[in-house]
Amino acid sequence: MPDRSFLDWPFFEPRHREWAEKLDAWCAQNLPADHHDVDAACRSLVDLLGRDGWLKPTAVDAANPAPLDVRMLCITRETLARHDGLADFAFAMQGLGTGAISLFGTDGQKRWLEKTRAGKAISAFALSEPRSGSDVANMDMTATKDGDSYVLDGEKTWISNGGIADLYVVFARTGEAPGAKGISAFLVPADAKGLEVAERLEVIAPHPLARLSFEGVRVPASAMIGRPGEGFKIAMSVLDVFRSTVGAAALGFARRAFDESVKRAGERKLFGAPLAELQMVQGHLAEMALDIDAAALLIYRAAWTKDSGAARVTREAAMAKLFATDKAQEVIDKAVQLHGGDGVRKGHIVESLYREIRALRIYEGASDVQKVVIARQVLADVQKT
Ligand SMILES: Cc1cc2nc3c(=O)[nH]c(=O)nc-3n(C[C@H](O)[C@H](O)[C@H](O)COP(=O)(O)OP(=O)(O)OC[C@H]3O[C@@H](n4cnc5c(N)ncnc54)[C@H](O)[C@@H]3O)c2cc1C
Repeated sequence: MPDRSFLDWPFFEPRHREWAEKLDAWCAQNLPADHHDVDAACRSLVDLLGRDGWLKPTAVDAANPAPLDVRMLCITRETLARHDGLADFAFAMQGLGTGAISLFGTDGQKRWLEKTRAGKAISAFALSEPRSGSDVANMDMTATKDGDSYVLDGEKTWISNGGIADLYVVFARTGEAPGAKGISAFLVPADAKGLEVAERLEVIAPHPLARLSFEGVRVPASAMIGRPGEGFKIAMSVLDVFRSTVGAAALGFARRAFDESVKRAGERKLFGAPLAELQMVQGHLAEMALDIDAAALLIYRAAWTKDSGAARVTREAAMAKLFATDKAQEVIDKAVQLHGGDGVRKGHIVESLYREIRALRIYEGASDVQKVVIARQVLADVQKT
């Protein structure tokens, strides 16, 4: 029986607990999805999650506006990831892809959110470029003002949902100032003329991913999200909300790996007794349980802090993402070890978790970058005192 005691922690309100229990029951009925065709799987997961109301936390409800509920985002990602990585991906991208619109969009732009929250449109977040992944302020893509329009030229890469999205939030250089202060954000429908999928990218845990090319893509000036030159700030604000949720997905993967390991250790008999009676195995299980609880505390601390009204949770979110993703990798590696040959067998759940977890330590700021973020914040705080 998976550990649910964390739901009693004071970070949560009754609505979070109720949601988590109902979602868990829904997942048991509806997941995992068939992953053979990842595009089709993602489309149908978005449709299914939307139909049954699970995408509502991903974006603000324009008719009834309230801030994004980060604890709800985290608990949803944790639960989905425990059941099916692709379901978590489908949910997460509906949030990351529309985050800029939820936080900074006009009423007109927010009309898209009705569709994305209902699973009727798929969204994507297009920030990274071939030359600027971690060094995002160094991007090359341009958006040139031409009368009442902007014309976008350049390339984006590693774009999740690239190829199946209906809308892209795209960051491009508008040149108000050099570096980070000269970037703006745009809402670009997938059918905009000049926007093409240049290449589909295959990764170790398959999901829709593409390099996109923009050649003279004309959008009205009203497609700009926020003000000219605010794009970098917008991107960072979106990541400030969603970074902790990456940790939550990692936590879901780790919990699943742990549950599978406990089961295996109880069932598998070696040297005349269950594996669980070997003290070295107990040592692994203890370390896994400890890492899971510590990650959960950091994640829900960050989410609760944001939900309690903190303008930014840069340090808390960076700690949550760094610790939860790195430790989930270790937990899953131990799970593979405890499963012996079955652990590396294609199609086994711990084998797929082993592949699923890896990219989480790279995207939305690599682990090394999170360390830089934490250290900078700590040093700045010391200088203030
Ligand atoms: C599966 C997947 C999905 C993605 N989805 C999206 C998406 O939807 N939208 C989007 O815009 N992007 C997306 N990305 C891109 C992702 O955000 C970038 O891959 C990431 O920011 C790293 O950039 P890079 O790949 O160019 O690596 P680089 O920037 O070249 O970095 C390589 C490595 O250098 C090290 N490093 C970098 N900077 C520092 C530093 N300051 N200090 C110390 N070490 C450092 C880190 O180890 C890092 O992993 C996705 C990536 C993957 C793998």
